[in-house]
Amino acid sequence: MELYSLTIHELQEKIKNGDVSAMQITESVFSRINAVEERVHSYIRLMKEEALAAAAKADENIKKGDLQPLTGIPVALKDIVCTKGITTTCGSHILHNFVPPYNATVVEKLSAAGAVFVGKANMDEFAMGSSTETSYFGPTHNPWDLERIPGGSSGGSATAVAADECIASIGSDTGGSIRQPAALCGVVGMKPTYGRVSRFGLIAFASSLDQIGPFTKDVEDCAIMMNVLAGYDPKESTSVKTEVPDYRRFIGGDIKGWKVGIPKEYFVEGIDPEVAAAVQKAIAVVEKCGGKIVDITLPHTQYCLAVYYIIAPAEASSNLARYDGVKYGLRTADARDLMEMYTKTRRQGFGAEVKRRIMIGTYALSAGYYDAYYGKASQVRALIRRDFDEAFQQCDVILTPTTPTPAFKIGEKTDDPLQMYLSDIFTISTNLAGIPGISVPCGFTAAGLPIGVQFLAGHFEEGKLLQIASTYEKNAAIEKRRPTL
Ligand code: GLN
Repeated sequence: MELYSLTIHELQEKIKNGDVSAMQITESVFSRINAVEERVHSYIRLMKEEALAAAAKADENIKKGDLQPLTGIPVALKDIVCTKGITTTCGSHILHNFVPPYNATVVEKLSAAGAVFVGKANMDEFAMGSSTETSYFGPTHNPWDLERIPGGSSGGSATAVAADECIASIGSDTGGSIRQPAALCGVVGMKPTYGRVSRFGLIAFASSLDQIGPFTKDVEDCAIMMNVLAGYDPKESTSVKTEVPDYRRFIGGDIKGWKVGIPKEYFVEGIDPEVAAAVQKAIAVVEKCGGKIVDITLPHTQYCLAVYYIIAPAEASSNLARYDGVKYGLRTADARDLMEMYTKTRRQGFGAEVKRRIMIGTYALSAGYYDAYYGKASQVRALIRRDFDEAFQQCDVILTPTTPTPAFKIGEKTDDPLQMYLSDIFTISTNLAGIPGISVPCGFTAAGLPIGVQFLAGHFEEGKLLQIASTYEKNAAIEKRRPTL
């Protein structure tokens, strides 16, 4: 087994026993990157020099007996989190030259935990998309089939883990951007509760929906990452001051007698038959582990997509107003006056999908339309949230497919935004309700594409998700395949 193919907990064991050094692990990961990155394109920017320096530092600490939760572990960062002194582009031309003067809180936390940063991972521009095709830096390819998309918007973070170009990574999820690519790339991805992980230093897309979370090779690693990421941050006003449990404690915990809700609205026509069959099998595994299957209803599900595509663009149009060419990022060279400088910079700096969102959002917020669109969407959002509150009176966790289909072909949906938006049909409600969700691999299609199952729980119940997901993972014993690259 090559070091790059191991999990965090396996590598930690080896480090602890003195079998490997942080330097050996980092070198192994970079040798893998050398071999596959050209075909996959997980990264916008590699940080090899910084990584080797961090690995040397980690080895010094190991020698001193100072072992932190991620000492010597190579981690990739979605290029949406600010890294001090290192270009942070958000996948956009308008920020292609932006060098943040500070670190995001998650970067500080990972660094304090001993992580070695490998690079900044590719993503859809400003995290708007489901395929990583809207990146200014070109698309990322799914390691299981290079002609297919990896999902998005955190596509590079997902492929970096799936193709062993890092051990774990960080993404952000506004409507599914961690869970959807995790499912399509065959890795574990968690969106924590809104407020669980600090958004300080996360470039904002839709501030009431955005949340940072991990991609990992298994559920135990997800718990290890959550132990590092979660917690109150005085620098972030929506971060919540509640106790953070030791998430590792939940791994392998028994789920006997747990009520597992199956929402009928998520098992409808239009789901790919192989996805439906794999999820049915997952339900059977959960039942075998002692879970009690209960039929539930989330009656406002049909409005989720419409509500999201008002609220997210509205917040985006406001958040993206700051990119005007004045203080940082791209500035057009040939403007005659200030107004022309603004308009030309924004015209040149943003891609088509981002412009579409800004226009939809601006329209929805404009005088005379605000009540009809944003106001109405906010009211329906409250109903969606109430659906979940009521559902969790009847069950401990909810089980659904993560995505309606496996990975589609590159270019297949780029001309049809609505089809693209439908990729998130099962993940968006989670963000609207603010609850946590996790996607775990649950099988493969006949063509060898990964499929994911999603578990959802009430606010701040990530522990429950890790418990059921790890127990499922162990008992489902999904074949440990790796993409052939
Ligand atoms: N695909 C959805 C969108 O385009 C969600 C993206 C995300 O979660 N960042 O908005």
